Amino acid sequence: MKRALITGITGQDGSYLAEDLLADGYEVHGLVRRSSISNTKRIEHVIKHLNLHIGDILDYSFLVNLVQEIEPDEIYHLAAQSQVGESFRMPMYTGNVIAMGTLNLLEAIRISKLDISLYNASTSEMFGNAPCPQNEETPFNPVSPYGVAKLYAHYMVRNYRDAYGIFAVNGILFNHESPRRGEEFVSQKITKFIGRIKRGGRGKLFLGNLMAERDWGYAPEYVKAMQLMLRQSNPKDYVIATGESHTVKEFMIEAFSCAGLNWRHYVVHETKGLLRSNEINALRGDYSKAELELGWDAKVYFKELVKIMVEADTA
Ligand code: NDP
Ligand code: GDP
Repeated sequence: MKRALITGITGQDGSYLAEDLLADGYEVHGLVRRSSISNTKRIEHVIKHLNLHIGDILDYSFLVNLVQEIEPDEIYHLAAQSQVGESFRMPMYTGNVIAMGTLNLLEAIRISKLDISLYNASTSEMFGNAPCPQNEETPFNPVSPYGVAKLYAHYMVRNYRDAYGIFAVNGILFNHESPRRGEEFVSQKITKFIGRIKRGGRGKLFLGNLMAERDWGYAPEYVKAMQLMLRQSNPKDYVIATGESHTVKEFMIEAFSCAGLNWRHYVVHETKGLLRSNEINALRGDYSKAELELGWDAKVYFKELVKIMVEADTA
């Protein structure tokens, strides 16, 4: 039986990945942050099949012991302070968790001398304002503390692959959403608001920049790409995206229209506190390498994604 360790198992991607790996017959271990109140809501439905370990990606000695105790075949490193906007308010914390956290894990793997395959969650945020479409050859130019920290982790993963022969890959994933997305992200913020209005709630939806374009995909499909990357004969980095981009405004209009509501009655935009100090204007991924080499393809596109999220919140 194959053994996998997921850091960030309580997050959106971790929860879908855990389901997939359990269905594939894996023994699944997860790193869970200590919390004074339960943070396992997204994995409650499978929790009895999981082996959870309370710890933190910032604790190097804990990670060294954990890797040696579990002896995993695969590690999916998803743990992060994943909110770009927050990274401007908490640059040091973001840098510690993402950059140092990833280095802690790489060192734990190297020291264990075990034959472990590592997936690292890189991000399209590393491209910054590079022209669209972005692919594996596009130069990185991050414009947020989150993007800069992820770029450090990305290069460290490549360094450990080249220097120590570790099977380590970076998945450069573009935005991916689902009904399990955190509510601080714009997609879920919009669809959760619509859900509240449909249940008789009142109020306004405050948003920041509506003109930014993102390439939004469906998270359950993206975690499948992570698994495919670890099952290749050579470790390589891949872009995962849909190849389509839409503005935040288009997302918002589509979501309100799915629910039969007129957005003009609810939305207040350009809210000062929600505008970022620096912004990526447009992201659109070219995932032809993943399509060719992994056989991966996006199936859920923008309109269907919005519909899935609105339906989940208005059901
Ligand atoms: P989430 O924010 O939903 O999940 C992040 C996970 O990391 C949570 O389980 C969180 O725990 C955990 N975590 C945070 N800090 C620590 C820490 N110090 N020690 C241990 N665990 C910690 O993110 P997603 O699932 O959406 O994303 C997964 C990964 O992919 C992240 O690294 C993200 O940056 C990256 N990514 C995501 C994209 C997206 O569009 N979703 C796009 C590109 C990259 P807790 O539940 O306790 O908060
Ligand atoms: P990101 O692409 O990883 O930063 O994902 P987000 O969902 O946080 O943001 C996507 C885009 O929506 C960014 O360009 C934000 O500036 C923009 N945006 C506009 N209003 C909001 C808002 O209220 N919350 C968030 N999170 N983003 C917003």
